[in-house]
Amino acid sequence: MRGPAPDSPQSLSRRLIHAARALETSGSYNAAKLLWALAYSEEIRGSAAAGEPVTRAERDRELQALIPALRAAGTGEAILSAIERGRLAALEDRTIPLEEIPPVYVCRTCGQVALSRPPERCPACGARPLSWREFRRSTSSSPCARTRRWRA
Ligand SMILES: [Zn+2]
Repeated sequence: MRGPAPDSPQSLSRRLIHAARALETSGSYNAAKLLWALAYSEEIRGSAAAGEPVTRAERDRELQALIPALRAAGTGEAILSAIERGRLAALEDRTIPLEEIPPVYVCRTCGQVALSRPPERCPACGARPLSWREFRRSTSSSPCARTRRWRA
């Protein structure tokens, strides 16, 4: 799956990630973190500008629509199954145990995704263990979510 070219004016976040990876390739991890943070910031801003689903039903439709799109993009069944478990838990307004959606890791070299524990070497590109970036659950609600309740 390829999106716009890294130099496309519509993809500032991709340009930032491209530059961050280039810095990491030369060992400049501390400088790269700035670009990773700005890319994340850019994605948050873009997401907010697009508007968020307001009702529980809208949120569920959005999640249901993402699953076939992710499957078409080559996302593994373990990840898709975990997303579905998360979707159902959110729909039922219940907490989902960590065992049902374990920590998730992304290979910073090639984008491979792994659940629970990253393998010693990336199975897709052979990158070393330090290549894996862990994504943990958010520890608190966003400021918007704290002031808003999901409506049926
Ligand atoms: Zn990899």
